[in-house]
Amino acid sequence: MADAKKRTPEVVTKRSAKPARATKAKVPTAKRAKAPVEREREEAFERVLVRGRVSYAKDLRVERALRVYDELEKLYPEPRCELDYDTPFQLLIAVILSAQTTDKRVNSIAPALFGAYPDARALAGANLFDLREILRPIGFFRAKARAIRTTAKYLVKHHGGEVPRTMAELVKLQGVARKTANVVLGEAFGIAEGIAVDTHVARVAQRLGLTRGGTIRRMELDLMELTPRERWAKDHLRLVLFGRYRCVARSPKCEGCPLRGACFAPEAQHDSSP
Ligand code: SF4
Repeated sequence: MADAKKRTPEVVTKRSAKPARATKAKVPTAKRAKAPVEREREEAFERVLVRGRVSYAKDLRVERALRVYDELEKLYPEPRCELDYDTPFQLLIAVILSAQTTDKRVNSIAPALFGAYPDARALAGANLFDLREILRPIGFFRAKARAIRTTAKYLVKHHGGEVPRTMAELVKLQGVARKTANVVLGEAFGIAEGIAVDTHVARVAQRLGLTRGGTIRRMELDLMELTPRERWAKDHLRLVLFGRYRCVARSPKCEGCPLRGACFAPEAQHDSSP
């Protein structure tokens, strides 16, 4: 018995040595030293593009962006927002309503909507049933009717019925996120706070290697660092128009596309010539 009791500490010591070896193997010194260098390189230069296959330096990406935007400028010299509106308030409401539908559909109900409720005070006092009937053709009309009436009430209560001119205030409104706020600030007030990334902008920017992809915010930051602030509003509109009418999601019109040589989309690689 006495011998058994004396041996116990030796057994414990041997077992405790195993985890110590495992810990050393998990965090090698060389790896710890490399991490900051890799991070620095990534932040400064390296960009991994769509599907992680192509990487190149940031200055090359800027160069590529300027070439892309030059071509888009030739296609759309004076790009315009395609939503119908007369005031910043109407633009704000139209952009909120354009979620999950097309600008064309929103424009189809705009005369009835803004004829009945031209400003925030009128919309704040709207009958919800009447409002739904007007919005019915654009889909999600129940939720959208509630959202725009709540927004109008908020504007009346906190901003005297006017549309605020800052990102911080705009994103407090119901149905308004950065994308909508960016469109309203740029289009209604000429304020370049960022670049609105909608489905068209995201698709075109990824196909043309202007962004590493990822989150919408990440894409916006990528686009913002490529061109000067004064170009953002028009760059955004050009990307939207190109994505809406040419570089569409399914079956993009690659034949004769002036950006085909700069495009990473699989559709662009397909040679459709006879
Ligand atoms: S080549 Fe096709 S996919 Fe590429 S940018 Fe042009 S239309 Fe879009």
